[in-house]
Amino acid sequence: MYRTHTCGELRLEHVGQTVTLSGWVQRSRDKGFMMWLDLRDRYGITQLIFDENKSTKELFELARSLGREFVVQIKGEVIERVSKNDKIPTGDIEIQVAELTVLNQSKLPPFTIDDDTDGGDDLRMQYRYLDLRRKPVQQNIIFRSNLAIEARKHLAGEGFIEVETPFLIKSTPEGARDFVVPSRMNEGQFYALPQSPQTFKQLLMVSGLDKYFQIVKCFRDEDLRADRQPEFTQIDCEMAFVTQEDILNTFEGLTKHLFKSVINVTLADFPRMNYDEAMRLYGSDKPDIRFGMQFVELNDLAKGHGFGVFDNAELIVGICAEGQAANFSNKDIKKLTEWMQRPQIGAKGLVYIKLEEGGTIRSSIGKFYTDEQLKTWADKFGAKEGDMLLILSGEEEKTRKQLNELRLEMGNRMGLRDPKVFKPLWVVDFPLLEWDEDSERFHAMHHPFTSPKKADVDRMLSGDHETMKSLRADAYDLVINGVEIGGGSIRIHDRALQSRNFDLLGFTKEEAEAQFGFLMGAFEYGAPPHGGIAFGFDRLCAVMNGVNSIRDFIAFPKNNQGRDMMIDAPSIIDQEQLDELRLRLVDIKK
Ligand code: ASP
Repeated sequence: MYRTHTCGELRLEHVGQTVTLSGWVQRSRDKGFMMWLDLRDRYGITQLIFDENKSTKELFELARSLGREFVVQIKGEVIERVSKNDKIPTGDIEIQVAELTVLNQSKLPPFTIDDDTDGGDDLRMQYRYLDLRRKPVQQNIIFRSNLAIEARKHLAGEGFIEVETPFLIKSTPEGARDFVVPSRMNEGQFYALPQSPQTFKQLLMVSGLDKYFQIVKCFRDEDLRADRQPEFTQIDCEMAFVTQEDILNTFEGLTKHLFKSVINVTLADFPRMNYDEAMRLYGSDKPDIRFGMQFVELNDLAKGHGFGVFDNAELIVGICAEGQAANFSNKDIKKLTEWMQRPQIGAKGLVYIKLEEGGTIRSSIGKFYTDEQLKTWADKFGAKEGDMLLILSGEEEKTRKQLNELRLEMGNRMGLRDPKVFKPLWVVDFPLLEWDEDSERFHAMHHPFTSPKKADVDRMLSGDHETMKSLRADAYDLVINGVEIGGGSIRIHDRALQSRNFDLLGFTKEEAEAQFGFLMGAFEYGAPPHGGIAFGFDRLCAVMNGVNSIRDFIAFPKNNQGRDMMIDAPSIIDQEQLDELRLRLVDIKK
């Protein structure tokens, strides 16, 4: 038997018992005739004591020879500590060791295995198995496991069944590039890894499985960011005979359950906001509603006073930063303006109006507007003395996006984005199609299987080009703290409508048939009305923990270049393997 207890288990009540523990040597302190050693496993740390006077010379010497991260087994008596450590649960006791076995030695680890480590990112990724020995990293992985288990429990309780769908498939368009896998047995042909199980889960509804879920890997070949990985996990769900309302209620229920059961947070009912409103008030389809600072439009007040920048702008819009007039010197505003002018945001400039205490108004546009006029602007914001208005202008869509960035930045600076506060909302009524000026094509805003709203079906079937831009979809996103946590839609379940959608998206009949004939064919065999949603599982982990990086919650993540530093993938393959696959590489830079 390797152990009678774990390293996190022993308390004063165990004093006097003889126990066996196994674990890793965390650190040792050698006082000459006495030695202490911290033994660690997943459950905690237990202090071991070796006393020269109470043990054999061999045992003492062996203990002294142990290095960090050696794997050992010990047997000894639980005794009460003289100086207790109230920072760890086992801090009242220690083990007077009588037997010590070295189960395995360890090289000196490349970084310290401690809550705070001296290891840089690359090193930690290269030795991820050692990084995963660290408590905060282990806790994230355990958190993820708890969340998955609770999701399964809840969904099973609601009558969902978990079905695995294949990984070697034909492309499912979710708007990203596919990872492809060459087929050896089918020369010159490729599988695509699923960007999501979308078409399969719809087929399961045609099959009558009624309620499906899967905690599933998805693969998208995109440029990476802190909240993106080439492979990531979804809680993917689909239901038959449902309306949008049914889906929102079901998955609001799941979300509330996960927050309550895993982090003991009770969420209030989720507000709903339609897409147009989200864009108008926040310039984003995933607004962070932990704080207000809603957009206020000023076209009516600001135009026609000789300030060319505003006169020529499509939109003049601003936010009110409460109580910030005194906190921003001219220099601070200059820096903020430069921050807005970085290419990532691309604002041309930033207009400010400070409503100073005592009534003075200071602004960058005082030449063009009287104080009286600026006061009417302030009224429109509901601003009071001490507040500062920040205003952008320009082309409508761009300006809203830029102001969204500014709002979030001000929210950060003003401490309004508390990671311990959770504000979910549903964003609903997304446009069905998005016109792309560059490619002169419509794109599906969600994906090509999304249904227009019932009221828009006729307009979709017979309307002209302009009409298509105004179609609304039964599509919804779950947003928490400004992060898109989930998205889904009611699906098209009618062949003619699906075919029309492919037309609008620029597929020829032949292309649509070749790529999605199987789905449209299935719609001819009694497809029920259906819809679903997928949660970004990694993101949900991150948001619930108040952090941005999803990597912390993935046991073996990839770096920004999509590389696994530990196993060194991707890598080249043998010529023999290439030959077998009939692949020839051209123009590869070594
Ligand atoms: N397949 C969609 C996605 O990955 C989710 C859905 O529509 O259910 O975003």
